[in-house]
Amino acid sequence: MKIIVGYGSCGIAAGAGKVYKALEKRIKEDNLQMDLDIAGCNGMCYLEPIVDVYDDEGNKKTYVQVTPERIDDIINNLQDSDLIISEDEVARRSKIVKVATAKCGVINPEKIEEYIENNGYEAIKKCITEMAPEDVIEEIKLSGLRGRGGAGFPTWFKWNAALQSKATPKYMVCNADEGDPGAFMDRSVLEGDPHNLIEGMMIGAYAIGAEEGVVYVRAEYPLAIVRLQNAIDQAREKGILGKNIFGSNFSFDLRIKAGAGAFVCGEETALIASLEGERGMPRLKPPFPAQKGYWNLPTNINNVETFANIPWIMYNGGDKYAAMGTEDSKGTKVFALTGKIKNGGLVEVPMGMSIKEIIYELGGGILNDKEFKAVQMGGPSGGCIPASIIDTKVDYKSLAATGAIMGSGGMVVMDETTCMVDMARFFLDFTQKESCGKCIHCRIGTTRMLEILTRITEGNGKEGDIELLEELATQIKAGSLCGLGQTAPNPVLSTIRYFRDEYEAHIRDHK
Ligand code: SF4
Repeated sequence: MKIIVGYGSCGIAAGAGKVYKALEKRIKEDNLQMDLDIAGCNGMCYLEPIVDVYDDEGNKKTYVQVTPERIDDIINNLQDSDLIISEDEVARRSKIVKVATAKCGVINPEKIEEYIENNGYEAIKKCITEMAPEDVIEEIKLSGLRGRGGAGFPTWFKWNAALQSKATPKYMVCNADEGDPGAFMDRSVLEGDPHNLIEGMMIGAYAIGAEEGVVYVRAEYPLAIVRLQNAIDQAREKGILGKNIFGSNFSFDLRIKAGAGAFVCGEETALIASLEGERGMPRLKPPFPAQKGYWNLPTNINNVETFANIPWIMYNGGDKYAAMGTEDSKGTKVFALTGKIKNGGLVEVPMGMSIKEIIYELGGGILNDKEFKAVQMGGPSGGCIPASIIDTKVDYKSLAATGAIMGSGGMVVMDETTCMVDMARFFLDFTQKESCGKCIHCRIGTTRMLEILTRITEGNGKEGDIELLEELATQIKAGSLCGLGQTAPNPVLSTIRYFRDEYEAHIRDHK
């Protein structure tokens, strides 16, 4: 019998450490023939601590919300324990399709052997031994994969631009600076399957001709950093990272750079500046990083989820990936469900699923059975989607038409009690503080907008404030250098678009 305790940050926060210790003690004291192991988060954060039990035939039973006092249910492999996950819960999650998170919650992220046993590093081996870099890029083009960090730029196009750049050396960089409030997709992948990220970066490096990689991880992700460093060390020991990988001419190694947690460092030129030891401030483009990036050399940057899709695509084929999703948005997307939702956690679904299905079927609906009011998509750069258009599909085109964006995949759910002006103020307060200050429009404009929003929420709003917010928003979007400033007004604009009456009521009722 094998017992696996979910040991991601969410599980640990819910008490997985105590459950693990209780199981370990009991197995030792009673000299039980049971293997105890850990895995990352399987997405069901709302049911942590979670323990999976495999019998000798490989059949799995999942126990949820386990406490140290209830480990007898697990040790005795009870058939009728109330801790066993309900059939309803299993059925509810049947629409989840895992690609980027396929091994999260399944394998031990601290053991390279488990990754390898599950076809790990087969995709890079195939690329190196059977394919030219151009063929790899062609396969990614076939998959239709677009960057999962927010902008949705075709991955193959960026890789090809870096391949075409003649200067050397080239760099492969992973943006793991996940900073949106309510987003934790990348953290889960880093904690639950770090070798998948390494393999994705290796494939990208082979495609563009890079021999050095850097993972820029926010320092607030200590467990992710420890597991990723452990994975890098293990891959080096096995000769998977280093010189002449798999006996080829391809050499690649990577290192971690811990970022200090500035939201603007998610912008690729700011990230590069931070990597070079400068203050993390965006730079003018062009030149693009593919031509002049890290130390003015060709550099490709993708986020964690983008890289996490790559090994699956190269192992299974770009056509299989493209068969999922919609015409303009292929494959799957990982979403982090937070806020007033029953089942907070991660879901990976084919693109094109409706927001309603995600919130009500996978997310279990609204906390305390209250009315759904809106969902903020794409964090502080995104916009809200109100109940009236909850059938909107999650693909790049449909979301853009609503004024929201896919973003990196954070979904903050709000119920009938949420004040949308407060919500807009919360997100603008975040972006205003995170503005690097380089552009006047972003630095001063967001400050003025925040002042107006504050006075409205405090009951001191004036006639004309809504129009002033709209005018400032338009100018900030037009006059800002980077994505932070260009999108900072979005939560305000989308709440004015869908909930103008709430702004008007605040101003009217407090005259
Ligand atoms: Fe900095 Fe804002 Fe300008 Fe971006 S838009 S460079 S965050 S001041």
